[in-house]
Amino acid sequence: MIPASSYAAPDARAPLGPYHFQRRDPRPSDVVIQILWCGVCHSDIHQVRDEWGRGEFPMVPGHEIVGRVIDAGHDVKKFSPGQLVGVGCMVDSCRECPSCREGLEQFCEKGFTGTYASKDRQDGTPTQGGYSSVIVVDEAFVLRIPDNLEPAAVAPLLCAGITTYSPLRHWKIGPGSKVGVVGLGGLGHMALKLAHAFGAQVVQFTTSPSKKDDAMRLGADIVVMSNDKAAMKEHASTFDFILDTVSAPHDLNAYLQLLKRDGTMTLLGLPDTPPTVHGGALLFGRRQLAGSLIGGIAETQEMLDFCADHGIVSDIEVIAIQDINQAYERMLRSDVKYRFVIDMASLSKDTR
Ligand code: NAP
Ligand code: ZN
Ligand code: ZN
Repeated sequence: MIPASSYAAPDARAPLGPYHFQRRDPRPSDVVIQILWCGVCHSDIHQVRDEWGRGEFPMVPGHEIVGRVIDAGHDVKKFSPGQLVGVGCMVDSCRECPSCREGLEQFCEKGFTGTYASKDRQDGTPTQGGYSSVIVVDEAFVLRIPDNLEPAAVAPLLCAGITTYSPLRHWKIGPGSKVGVVGLGGLGHMALKLAHAFGAQVVQFTTSPSKKDDAMRLGADIVVMSNDKAAMKEHASTFDFILDTVSAPHDLNAYLQLLKRDGTMTLLGLPDTPPTVHGGALLFGRRQLAGSLIGGIAETQEMLDFCADHGIVSDIEVIAIQDINQAYERMLRSDVKYRFVIDMASLSKDTR
């Protein structure tokens, strides 16, 4: 077994604190990764607070992992010690169902294995995530990290990047598309950068006046304060596509009315209470309300390579692991610019 130090939530009501556990010895197709950086996703907060239910504790969150290979099982072909690699939200899937065969492991019909708060398919032990010193992952779920990008700022691409890239690709966003991004946090700022890079006209919706200038710098053509009814009305029935990244309950109808005929609004956020949708907001204009879930492994590699070609990374604030509970409080106040990334070297201060 491989000793790992980490920060974990002991239960759904307690703050995160130091926790020691064991990783498995590498199986033939496993890669052992020393974790250098881990992004902080709002899903980590939902999960450590057990807002989605069925959480197992202690829980080590973290699914935006960048690290260095330190060992590999004898069947590993793609990776070798010393290489910089990434791990996102999934560490395994059935690999046989139609979705897995199509490279859509996130929709595995038997359920994908999450990087944390899930169970290993072979031995049933709980999976533990990236707020830790080391992780062991099958090479099929490990990504190559391009060498021209800042590794700490790449970490958020492993969830926030792919979760926004995948729907923008699926709904064929490009030059001529008018795209709205709702919420300027971790996912929102990546959606903004990517939609802009795909050549779309992008309108950022925010509740935070302090983020207006940043939104323009990050690629928005227009910024709309979502509580400004007149400004919202100016955009009625004009959008091809709206990507909603908001982490808390909010009114979807106000945005549905901004879609053109046959336009689509796609939800990414997963608050614990379901939204209310007025039928009228959909049926006048044959509008569609959809959802999207992260992205498959091949598409995640495609996204990383696209970001390398276009010099796209996340705007980050690096924190020590000891600051994690405070970072969560700031995210809950929408005070994030635009992704916290944990420097895992900080673990040595109290746990290694
Ligand atoms: P985040 O960094 O905390 O950003 C969320 C943003 O939503 C905030 O910065 C804020 O933007 C806006 N917001 C927050 N509360 C609001 C409210 N009450 N009303 C209106 N706007 C509000 O979160 P994130 O990491 O981007 O994650 C966003 C959501 O996506 C979470 O629910 C997360 O679990 C989910 N998620 C889904 C997937 C997937 O595969 N579908 C993957 C990852 C995450 P402004 O300040 O600009 O208003
Ligand atoms: Zn995430
Ligand atoms: Zn499957």
